[in-house]
Amino acid sequence: MFCGGREGIMVQDSAERMIDKLAQRFGPRPLLRWTERATRGKANYHKNTISVGPHVWRGPVPSLLHEYAHILLYYRRGSIPRTKKTWRHHGPEYVETLFEVAEYWYGNPYRYPWHSEYRSIEKRVNGSKIRSYRLV
Ligand SMILES: [Zn+2]
Repeated sequence: MFCGGREGIMVQDSAERMIDKLAQRFGPRPLLRWTERATRGKANYHKNTISVGPHVWRGPVPSLLHEYAHILLYYRRGSIPRTKKTWRHHGPEYVETLFEVAEYWYGNPYRYPWHSEYRSIEKRVNGSKIRSYRLV
């Protein structure tokens, strides 16, 4: 597991193992594109790839979890949600998926750095709008 504040030193091998663990738990096993140049993560639904690297600004671990949640939601639905344009990628279903992934990874989903998420995602989580969870 990757916990604590040393996420910046993550290497490709650790990222591969992280995806392996997520795949064991959730199913889909996207390919990793480890890139030194990326400053933000990216998921490609159709190619089933996740691009992250050591220099993504949020740190590679949260980025990888964020991108993995995209792949997982797509895998479960078989499609991209057809909702309001702004919600297509980061709508309610996505937030719940990310919450579930974060809960698995950190044990406590609130250890995920929601403050560095898109505002709409952060607001949804901090506003306790997650279907099956409540802040305690
Ligand atoms: Zn995203």
